[in-house]
Amino acid sequence: MQAEAVPTYQMFIGGAWVASHSGMNYPVFNPATGKVFAHVPKGDAEDVRAAVDAARKAFESPSWRAMDPSKRGRLLFKVSQSLRERLADFAKLETLNNGKPLGQAKGDVAMAARHFEYFAGLADKIQGSTIPVPGNRLDYTVKEPLGVTAHVVPWNYPLVMAARSMAPALAAGDTIVAKPASFTPLTLLKFAELCKEAGFPDGTVNVITGGGEEVGGELAKHPDVKLTALTGSVETGMKIMSLASHNLSRVILELGGKNPHIVFRDADLEKATSAVLSGIFTNAGQMCWAGSRLLVEEEVKEAVLQRLVEGANAMKLGDGLKPDTAMGPLVAESQRERTAGYVEIGTGEGATVAAGGGVPAEEELRTGYFYRPTILDGVTQDMRVAREEIFGPVLTVTTFRGDDDAVGKANDQEYGLWAGIWTRDLRRAHSVAARLESGIVTVNEEPITFPQTPFGGFKNSGNSSEQGMDAVSAYVRTKNVSIDLS
Ligand code: NAD
Repeated sequence: MQAEAVPTYQMFIGGAWVASHSGMNYPVFNPATGKVFAHVPKGDAEDVRAAVDAARKAFESPSWRAMDPSKRGRLLFKVSQSLRERLADFAKLETLNNGKPLGQAKGDVAMAARHFEYFAGLADKIQGSTIPVPGNRLDYTVKEPLGVTAHVVPWNYPLVMAARSMAPALAAGDTIVAKPASFTPLTLLKFAELCKEAGFPDGTVNVITGGGEEVGGELAKHPDVKLTALTGSVETGMKIMSLASHNLSRVILELGGKNPHIVFRDADLEKATSAVLSGIFTNAGQMCWAGSRLLVEEEVKEAVLQRLVEGANAMKLGDGLKPDTAMGPLVAESQRERTAGYVEIGTGEGATVAAGGGVPAEEELRTGYFYRPTILDGVTQDMRVAREEIFGPVLTVTTFRGDDDAVGKANDQEYGLWAGIWTRDLRRAHSVAARLESGIVTVNEEPITFPQTPFGGFKNSGNSSEQGMDAVSAYVRTKNVSIDLS
């Protein structure tokens, strides 16, 4: 039998597929099998210059600058429609590249389409104001696009994280250079072509592949890049902010989290435990807003833990393309090692493994990067596993006594992205929500977000909010015009 050929992708610059300037490529792996299934170009500073140049020329071209904003909106809408039509293809590619179950990948692609649909409607509503001032004057503001914006994307939600920041930028009239994470470049490359097919002029959407520093770093420090939107780790956020400071360009940072599910004794425990399970084991725990810390009131801890252990042990691991797979592999061997390392650190610190805690025994899962859904019990606030983002399928369990203790433990963190409150007492829900240092709070439901609701973290989880009407304001600059009418 002939082995299937491994395709080599190219980068998308100025509306055309191009190889890297060095001619070098690197391999992309299917995490469910550990096998190479594509090659992509290894971009460098020269490729960044070419992509930014293409985006700057597109930005300056009259056909883009003078485009009726409602037409820009229609282009975004067309992208959203095309993406829905090709949802199955994109989802399959996302699963092959990232490992997540196909159902989750379909949800991601649908969400990417929703981001474009939402911001399509905003493209012709980005407007200034008239301001009452002394004297016989007319004073007004104009919202102008920034120019070239860079979008540096993580591997956990490769397409949807890109779409989330690209849509408001394009709605505002900016042009784009996007860089997918090295592990997961494929859906974003395909998406660039889809934008061209939808009618975006050449050079308005460019995608280049390669390493973090070599491509992401070069983008952030390029003088023609007016904004860098990073979704990634705190460490990378700090680097990008420092690089961008040389040009005083804008930086949007959506970073990590160590998010608590706070389960009070009066909660609907059935509903809470099922949300806690999906909050940590969806996407194999590789989520910025994973509910990775369970804070549970002492009286109900045993009842909750028992349900969680049963749920974790019952999860079917496998290739994301198989219909009965509940949890796929981690994205790479390095992520699996990181997860295993943290479980070792946790047990060394005194935590006990209540579920999982190793690689699965099944023969067919041996070559992929699988790790069992894991629950660490007896975790205290001082342990590293309670403080550091593991970014794998590991839940820590910590008890509390009363509201003050719950809020204190929830906030005792460098991060502040998401928190979930579980209680039947409405007064408690509101008062705890008000005291939480988190950009997103949900009450009695799983972490949930929509393109129309802001998504952003407090503290080290980020410096801004994406999604929602306000997201566009980051992608425009404000000009004030004052006219003497006397
Ligand atoms: P990462 O920071 O390692 O990489 C993110 C992107 O930055 C990648 O494209 C990478 O190539 C690039 N990069 C890496 N080093 C760089 C450098 N020195 N200069 C410029 N670019 C560089 O993060 P990751 O491992 O891909 O993703 C996981 C992280 O992302 C987690 O911390 C997670 O919490 C966070 N995340 C946050 C959100 C959010 O909305 N807040 C969403 C998803 C993921």
